[in-house]
Amino acid sequence: MQHGTAPAPRAAESPQDDLSAALTAILLPDLDEVTADQARGADCTWCRARLPRGGAVDLGERRHEGVLFFLRSCRRCLAAAAHRSLLDHAPMCEPCTDNAAECPTGRGLYRLIRDGRR
Ligand SMILES: [Zn+2]
Ligand SMILES: [Zn+2]
Repeated sequence: MQHGTAPAPRAAESPQDDLSAALTAILLPDLDEVTADQARGADCTWCRARLPRGGAVDLGERRHEGVLFFLRSCRRCLAAAAHRSLLDHAPMCEPCTDNAAECPTGRGLYRLIRDGRR
């Protein structure tokens, strides 16, 4: 018989998992406001700049009111969004308050912020 809460099994640390966790936590703009070009990933989700083939980051598919969005972002906007999202996420997240390296979301968001500064 176990007492208290058993610690969750430690997930293997993978940069790809960190990135998906970060993208799930990222604060997106109001999807009612995005243009058709933003919704299909041609323009940056935030600044609406036309994205080059390379150099853009896939934010993954989102479904909003029955519509699928394929959002993409330029690195600069994504880093800024990751920073805002981290400020939003960290105070609510126990591992992050303690040590962000313990949280896949925290790690992923930090990495996006770093990547955007390059
Ligand atoms: Zn942008
Ligand atoms: Zn966290």
